[in-house]
Amino acid sequence: MIIKEFINKKKKGLEHTKYEIKEFIAKYVDGKVPDYQVAAWLMAVNFQGMTKNEIVGLTDVMVHSGETLDLSGTEGFKVDKHSTGGVGDKVSIILAPLAQSAGCQVPMISGRGLGHTGGTLDKLESIPGFNVNLTEQDFANYIKQYGLAMGGQTEKLVPADSKLYSLRDVTATVRSIPLITASILSKKIAEDIDGLVMDVKTGNGSFMPELSGSEELANTLKSVGEEFDLDIKAIITDMNQPLGKAVGNWLEVKECIEVLDGGGPEDLKEVTLDLTAWMVVLSGLEKNYTKAKEKLQEKLNNGEAKERFIQMIENQGGDSSYIKNPDKYKDPAHIRTVSSQEEGFVQSIDTYKVGMAGVELGAGRLELGNEIYPEVGIVFDKKIGDYVAATEHICEIHTRDQESFKRAREKILDAFEIGENKVDLPPRIYDTV
Ligand code: URA
Repeated sequence: MIIKEFINKKKKGLEHTKYEIKEFIAKYVDGKVPDYQVAAWLMAVNFQGMTKNEIVGLTDVMVHSGETLDLSGTEGFKVDKHSTGGVGDKVSIILAPLAQSAGCQVPMISGRGLGHTGGTLDKLESIPGFNVNLTEQDFANYIKQYGLAMGGQTEKLVPADSKLYSLRDVTATVRSIPLITASILSKKIAEDIDGLVMDVKTGNGSFMPELSGSEELANTLKSVGEEFDLDIKAIITDMNQPLGKAVGNWLEVKECIEVLDGGGPEDLKEVTLDLTAWMVVLSGLEKNYTKAKEKLQEKLNNGEAKERFIQMIENQGGDSSYIKNPDKYKDPAHIRTVSSQEEGFVQSIDTYKVGMAGVELGAGRLELGNEIYPEVGIVFDKKIGDYVAATEHICEIHTRDQESFKRAREKILDAFEIGENKVDLPPRIYDTV
């Protein structure tokens, strides 16, 4: 293969064959194609797009770039949930044990936070002792025995995605629907699951700020996933403000415990129950979506979902006393409030800036490998539509030092737009495909 011709073909908007894609990706994973040529190809894909056949081909090649999990001894339908990422998106931590308590088999492989978005692995690691670095064997054993495990991707699983994603991150090619689709689906197909619920975020804190882009991504994920016999529901949910009140790893886990105890913020509960209900429906445990939701509410009310969460924490080496008594967790050095400088209604929140305020505090990272401080973060008192008096608190910041507090405060004040008009709340769920 002449790599320059392969790149040129995409530059002209022509269709690659599956064999060409296979050779190109295989050579890249083997270190035989340099990053600069792959970067040029990624940019060509970014502008020219890909046909469905090309996305299916790329996904397939990526799945087989490494090892795949074997969960064949697991009884029942194996279903996972994946989110395209956002700020305060802690849904997985409630959803996984909740779905399992309703009878789903939940092998969940999650990612780390990068840039303004948080990652489930960082949140789980804020629980003292909890191990997300499971071997494939341990992961498979937990699923067979308990129907639930939450871990990270091993180096052997889809190595093509790890290499491509790092390159996309530094070449401004993350926001490409074909590349996002192949990246997400290859990892999910390699997990040996039967069904997938996709949470496609839309809004100013997501990869896809425009609803039309989120709709296109949801439809592409569904139609490509179905080519691999994966049952998919894609739900488009709002990311025009943080989900729930907490942003920051332990603070988010604490908020999840509130939901598992039957309380917690309404928006977080609504989105979590919706996504989990679709997992129950896909698994064939309940035909009717409304009944599935009722069943899940019961599992929250009677404490079964929380029991499953505690069991998973203990299985994976975590200290469950922090789940039973969250106040035991070490306090950050400072807890300071941010007061509004204006009076009025919260018109909008720039969620990207909120995520970057989290990065300033050390709750997130700009590069993989940067240290995370589990105890820091933000808890919001006000969200879109709320009335704020001048000098009233917008949020509380949990911080390790004064300097990062000042930088985060500035970003939050900048993120909040306050005006005199009452505003309609954005929908929490836009569409289900
Ligand atoms: N999440 C992924 O796993 N891959 C992408 O490309 C975007 C979001």
